[in-house]
Amino acid sequence: MRKPLAVAVCTLCLALTPARSPVHLTLHEGTNIAAALSPDGRTIAFDLLGAIWTMPAGGGSAKRITDELMDARQPAWSGDGARIAFQAYRTNTWNIWSIAPDGTGLKQLTWGPFDDREPHWSPDRTRVVFSSDRSGNYDVWVLTLASGDLRRLTSNPANDFGPAWSPDGREIAFVSDRESGRGIYAVSTTDGATPAERLVRAQAGALAGPSWSPDGRTMAFNAIAAPKSALIVGGTDIADPTEDVFPFRPQWISPTELLYTADGKIKRRHVEGGAAAGAAVVVEFSAQVAFERPAFTPKHRDFARPGPQPVRGIMHPALSPDGKQIAFSALGDLWLMPVSGGAPKRLTNDPFIELGAAWSPDGRWLAYSTDRAGSTDVWLRDMTTGAERRITSGPARSEAAWSPDGNRIAMSRAGGGIDVVDVGRFTGVDVPRDTTMPPVVASLRVSGEPGGPSWSPDGRYVVMSALKPNSTRFREGSNEVLRVAIADGAQHWFEPLAQKSIGMREDYGPVWSPDGTQMAAIVDGRLGAFPVSREGEPVGPVRMLTTELANSPTWAGDSRHVLVQTDDRFKIVDVVDGSVREVDPHLTWTVKGAGTATRVIHAGHLWDGTSSALRDNVDVVVEGNRIKSVEPHRAALHAGTVIDASNETVIPGLIEIHSHLSKAYGESLGRLWLSWGITTVRNPATNPFEAAEEKESVESGRRIGPRTFSAGDPIDGTRIYYPGGTTIDGGAQLSLQLARAERLGYDFMKTYVRLPDLLQKRVVEEAHRHGLPVTSHELYPAVAYGADGVEHLRGTSRRGYSPKQSQLNRMYADNIDLLGASGMTITPTIGIQGGFQLQTIRDSSWLADPRMALYPPAVTQASRALARAPHPQAELDQRTAMVTPAEKSVARILHAGGRVTAGTDSPINPYGLALLMELEQFVSGGLTPLEALKSATTVNAQAIGMGADLGSIAPGRFADLVMLDGNPLANIRDLRKVKQVMKDGELYTSEALLRGPARPGAAAR
Ligand SMILES: [Zn+2]
Ligand SMILES: [Zn+2]
Repeated sequence: MRKPLAVAVCTLCLALTPARSPVHLTLHEGTNIAAALSPDGRTIAFDLLGAIWTMPAGGGSAKRITDELMDARQPAWSGDGARIAFQAYRTNTWNIWSIAPDGTGLKQLTWGPFDDREPHWSPDRTRVVFSSDRSGNYDVWVLTLASGDLRRLTSNPANDFGPAWSPDGREIAFVSDRESGRGIYAVSTTDGATPAERLVRAQAGALAGPSWSPDGRTMAFNAIAAPKSALIVGGTDIADPTEDVFPFRPQWISPTELLYTADGKIKRRHVEGGAAAGAAVVVEFSAQVAFERPAFTPKHRDFARPGPQPVRGIMHPALSPDGKQIAFSALGDLWLMPVSGGAPKRLTNDPFIELGAAWSPDGRWLAYSTDRAGSTDVWLRDMTTGAERRITSGPARSEAAWSPDGNRIAMSRAGGGIDVVDVGRFTGVDVPRDTTMPPVVASLRVSGEPGGPSWSPDGRYVVMSALKPNSTRFREGSNEVLRVAIADGAQHWFEPLAQKSIGMREDYGPVWSPDGTQMAAIVDGRLGAFPVSREGEPVGPVRMLTTELANSPTWAGDSRHVLVQTDDRFKIVDVVDGSVREVDPHLTWTVKGAGTATRVIHAGHLWDGTSSALRDNVDVVVEGNRIKSVEPHRAALHAGTVIDASNETVIPGLIEIHSHLSKAYGESLGRLWLSWGITTVRNPATNPFEAAEEKESVESGRRIGPRTFSAGDPIDGTRIYYPGGTTIDGGAQLSLQLARAERLGYDFMKTYVRLPDLLQKRVVEEAHRHGLPVTSHELYPAVAYGADGVEHLRGTSRRGYSPKQSQLNRMYADNIDLLGASGMTITPTIGIQGGFQLQTIRDSSWLADPRMALYPPAVTQASRALARAPHPQAELDQRTAMVTPAEKSVARILHAGGRVTAGTDSPINPYGLALLMELEQFVSGGLTPLEALKSATTVNAQAIGMGADLGSIAPGRFADLVMLDGNPLANIRDLRKVKQVMKDGELYTSEALLRGPARPGAAAR
C-alpha cells in the first residue's frame, strides 16, 4: 500500500511566506535585448522578457505583440515592413517564426527536432536565412517562403552562424569558428560551388551579429573579450570604453548611423570616417509588465514521523544471474533479498556507503563500491563465505560490471573514463590474504560523464549511455549508446531512436543481454528493449516494456527477465511475454529518537538569525532536538548537560541552498558540511533514490550529516546536458514525474534550461498543487506564472546568452525590478562565475585549513592550482580591490527588496567552504555581514518553507547551532572559525568531525 503524502500546513510558515500581491512594473531597461528598425524608419521592434515588442522609432511606450510563452527573440523586419521574423522556443527546439507588426498573423516558418536561430530576410523578402544545427553542427540555411524549400548554404564542419544578407542580395555574411581562421565570412547566395571567403579576421573573444552597410562595403559586428564588448565598424571599435554592447546584429539605419543595443538600452550612434561621431543617443522605451503570482503554501517537512517508514532510498538493485535474488543498497549498506519474498538481509553493517552491487556471471561474487578504506573503491564479496577484499585504491571508482567470462571488471573512474581490472586470479581461488591490487588492464577515455559500463557477450566491448551534443556550439544533446573497444579504446555511436535519449548516464542502461541479442535501457523514463547485432548495432525498433517510470535495469542470466526499480518496488519484466512480477522490498527505517535530555549552551555571545547585534551571556536551553528557551544567563538555567561556549559566538546553523551531493565522497561528506557550520543543504538536482537514501541514513542516525531538502533529477526538454537530465516532450511524462515526486518525498522541483515555458508553467501549477516549490534558471516569464526561485545570476541558458546578465556579467533594471517586486528568490552563485577564484586571490588562507583533508586529493589539488591561476576577469593590479559586477548585482537585488538565497552549486567549488566564500563575496559587493548572514540562515529557511523550524535561534526551532570564535557580524570571515556544531540537538566538536569513524578495513583484509 502506498501511503498518502501527509501535507501538514504550518501556520507559522504561512505567516513567514511573503504575501503574493499583484506586481505592476514599468521597465526601461532590458538585459541582452535585440532591436531592429522597420524599413520605413517609423517603428522599432525589440525583444524583452522573451517577447517581441514594437514602439515608435523615437522611443516611448512599447506594445507586446507576441505572447509570453514562446521565448521570442532577435527580431528582423522584411524589406516591405509587413513581417517581423524572429527565433522562438515554443516547443522543445528553437524555430523561426514571423508575425505582422500589429501582432496578427503569427506563423511558424521552420519545424523539427533541430535548433534554428538568428533569422534575417533576403532584400527581395522571398527568403529567410538562419543558422541551424540540422547537419550536426551550425550551418547557414536558406528557407524559400513560397515553396518551403530549405537549402544548406555552408557545409564546413565548424559552426557557421549569425547570418546577414547583403543589401544587393548576392551574399550572406556569417560568423564562423572554422579552423582556417575564426572570423566573419561571406558566401554567395547564387553559386553554391564557390567557397566562403573570409571578410574579417577574428578579433579576440566571441563575434556576433555581422551587418552590411547599405553600400555593402563596410561590416559592423560585435566582439566580446571581457572586460570589453566592442562594436566594430570597418575594423574600428566605436563603442565607449565601458559600454556593454549586446551580442546581436547592429542595424545600419542610414549610410552613417547604426541602431544597436547596449547597457540595457536601445541606442543610435553615428559613424563618420571610420570612427564614432558624437555620443550614442538612447532611444528610451517603457514596457508595462503586470502579473499576479498565484498564492502557494509549501508543504511542511515533518522530521518526527513516528513508527517505521518505508525505505525509498533503494539504490542500484541487481538481479542475480539465476534470477532468484536481488542485491541492492539502502541506508548506506548492502542488502540481499530473495525474489520469492521474505525480508532483506543486511550484508554490510557500517557507517560507510556501499553502492552499485554487480553480480559475477557465476553468481558467486558481488562487486560493489564503498568508502570504507577512505576513498570510494571497488570491493569484492565472496557470497559463499562472506569474505571481502578491496580491488582498487583511489581515485573514486564505482559502477562495476563483470565481463561475461568473470575475469575482468569494468568500472567508472572519477573524473571520467572506464578502467578495466583483471580479477581472474582473485576470483578463481579463495580470497587471497595478500594486499596486492589486481592490475588495471585498460584505461578507456570517455569524455563527459558517461553512465556505467555494460559488456558485450564476447568481452570485446563495453557500451554505455553517453552524451552526444547536437553541435559543438552548445553543450546540449541526447544520450546515445557509445560502444568502446577494450583493446584500443575505439568508439562507435549507436542511435536506436533519432534525437531521443537512451539511458540517463546514471544506472539507466543500456545493458547488454547475456546472450547478446538485445539491450535494455530506460527511454523517456520507461523500460525499453531493442534487438542488436553481435557488434551492438540496433537491428530493430525499441519496444517499451513498462508504462511507469523505471530505472536500474539488470538482466537475469536467461536473457529473458529484466529487473527494474519503480518508485516503491522492484519489477521483474519478462521481455518475451511482457508479464511482470512485483517484489516489495519490505524494508523500513525509523527516525532516530531525539530524546528529552536537557542541554544548555552557555553562549558568550549570540546572534539569533534576525537581530542586528550580538547578545552577550545567553543561555540556550535545548530539550531533545528543539530549542526550549533563549534567555539571559542565570545559574538556575544550568541544568542537565552544560556546554560551555562562553568564549564563543553562537549562531544558527547555516543553510546551503544549492549543492549537488556526491556519493563518491562517502560518509565524510556529512562531516565535511557540519565542520563548516552548515547544518542544512538543499539539493536541486539529484538522483531521487540517492536523495532519499541520504535523508533516511541521516535521519535514522545511520551516519551524520546535515538535513537535506531535495528535488529529483531535473525536468528538462528533449535535449539534456547533465547525467540524470530528465527528457520531457509531453504532459503524460510530466504526470509520471510528479507522481514520483510525491512517492519519493521530493521537497521541491527543479526544471532545467531546455524545458519550454509552456511545460514549465505546467510543472509549476502541478507541483504547487502537491505543495512543492519550483526553481529553475529562468526568471521571466517563470516569475509571472509563479515559479518560486531562480538559480544563478547567470547560469546556463538555452539562448547561448543569458537574459539575466550580460556577457560582461552586468544586470539591468528589468531583472533587478522583477526580483525586487515579486518575492521570487534568487541564488546568485557568483562563486562559479570566477568569484571563488577571485575570493581565493584576495585571501588564500583556506588552503591551509585542516578541513581540506576531508576532500578527495583531486579537489585539494585543483584548489591549489586555482589559487595560482590568473583570474579571468580581474586585471592583476586590481585583484584585491576590485568589486565585480556580479558582487554589485547581489547588493542591488537585495536593496531593491529582493530575496537573496545563499548557495554555491558545489561541488563546482569545494562543498561547505564555497558557501562561506560566497558570503564573503556578498560582503565585498556591499552587503553588510548581517545581510549576508541572513541570506544563509533566515532567508534560506523561509525559501525552503521551514522558517518556523530552521535558520534562527528561538524557542521551538531545531537545535541547529554553530559555536565559533570571533564575531561574524563584524567580520564575515570569522564564519570559518568553527569550534563546535550542534545539529538536531547532537553536539560535534571540530576535532571529532575531522576524525570521523574508525575504519575497520583500511587495508585489504
Ligand atoms: Zn549560562
Ligand atoms: Zn546546480
